[in-house]
Amino acid sequence: MIKVETEPPGKLPAKPSHVASRHAGWHFDNSYARLPEVFHTRVNPTPVAQPRLVIFNHPLAHSLGLDPAAFSDPGAAAFFTGNQILPGAEPIAQAYAGHQYGNFVRLGDGRAILLGEHRTPTGERFDIQLKGAGPTLYSRRGDGRAALGPMLREYLISEAMHALGIPTTRSLAVATTGEPVLREQTLPGAVLTRVAASHIRVGTFEYFAGLGDHDALGRLTDHTLRRHFPDRAESDHPALALLEGVVERQASLIAHWMRVGFVHGVMNTDNMALSGETIDYGPCAFVDAYDPAAVFSSIDHHGRYAFGQQPRIAAWNLARLAEALLPILHPKPQAALLRANEVIDSFSARFHRHWLASLRAKLGLFSVEPEDASLAEELLRWMQQSRADYTHTFRNLRADATPESTSPADAVFTAWHRRWTERLARQHQAETEVIRLMNANNPAVIPRNHMVEAALAAATTGNDFAQLERLNAALAKPYDAADQTAALLNPPPPGTPACRTFCGT
Ligand code: AMP
Ligand code: MG
Repeated sequence: MIKVETEPPGKLPAKPSHVASRHAGWHFDNSYARLPEVFHTRVNPTPVAQPRLVIFNHPLAHSLGLDPAAFSDPGAAAFFTGNQILPGAEPIAQAYAGHQYGNFVRLGDGRAILLGEHRTPTGERFDIQLKGAGPTLYSRRGDGRAALGPMLREYLISEAMHALGIPTTRSLAVATTGEPVLREQTLPGAVLTRVAASHIRVGTFEYFAGLGDHDALGRLTDHTLRRHFPDRAESDHPALALLEGVVERQASLIAHWMRVGFVHGVMNTDNMALSGETIDYGPCAFVDAYDPAAVFSSIDHHGRYAFGQQPRIAAWNLARLAEALLPILHPKPQAALLRANEVIDSFSARFHRHWLASLRAKLGLFSVEPEDASLAEELLRWMQQSRADYTHTFRNLRADATPESTSPADAVFTAWHRRWTERLARQHQAETEVIRLMNANNPAVIPRNHMVEAALAAATTGNDFAQLERLNAALAKPYDAADQTAALLNPPPPGTPACRTFCGT
């Protein structure tokens, strides 16, 4: 997805200074850097002309056990572009491969550099990665850089996903570089500091499977189990235990995406994390009108990664993981295949279980009735046909109870509403409990495309970050409609052009 080809880096990046500065609470312990050389290459970020912090996530810094005071001086920006290396960091670029739009490719961190793993005071371990930090051995013809707009977009949307209660990588900071990046146009360059449970991807396993390196596959399996599935780490069948764990987490994750109308947009296997976190925010967007065929990415011509395709694509990606694990699943190939297939086949049922649970919550249903799935599907069908706004419809279902306030009031909706009201009457929970359940599962505020675009435009072309900060603050409380302006709660005004998103290169 590199649009403008630049010359490959001719010389090794200049070495940034390892200045300890203030410790700020960083505590690195870099288990991935200790893995054998085939897993990564050591590379320092390339220093930039003029580091400047444009957005910083104080609540996240606090939850990581970092001292916010350390980030108030202008010199702190140098750590978030890689001009200075945090004490204890051991920068590496990770090797990985992936299926991009169905085709196998060898990739690796071409513009992201993993500084290391920060241990929080409570013992949690997080990858700290600089995205856009300069070229690596895996940059191919890319410049190793990122533009400000896409980095702010990842910051805003990943934090919105977190606030929505969805597993995701987080964003600690965006710093501008003072250097232009050349894409279709010249854009301001920036570096995003990404915080993740890890950056181990389906494509990481595919990389070693592609090399036929079964030793590395085993090492990676153990490493991933210990890090993300400690309760499975002692299994007699580690590869199988890992596959099952990942399949379950992805089934849950995709159901979350569907619950809030999130379209990832580029679900290549290199963009699927074993941890179960949403990762690599490129051309992602949220649906306004409910439409399973919704596609926003300018390069997804065949709708491979359309909204409604996501469960199926997740299963496809997981099958690539299973394939990569085959050599270590069982010494006998037939037995390995049988096991892999069983686990992959379980994805559909797992996803539907999570999805139905989500739909029940969205409809305020505490009890379980056999017709619940059909009740939900009938509403979704109506929404699709009438192009109703996904977020708004669910959020306002109770308020729309009286026919005169039903919008758009049509016979199909009215009949559905009666059916639903009768269903609610068959459970004993009080109306207040129903509303509470619904409000906790139906966001009032999502990062609407038109609002995101406007905020990013103000920041990138007008150097005005106030709008972005306001949107970011509203998105921090997505289930809370109080205090929010109508502009944030309402669907885009009629006539708003359809959103097109671009890969963040
Ligand atoms: P993405 O589309 O961000 O998931 O990236 C896909 C692959 O392309 C990854 O291996 C990236 O490291 C690489 N890549 C994307 N943009 C650049 C760039 N500007 N320079 C070097 N590599 C890049
Ligand atoms: Mg990626």
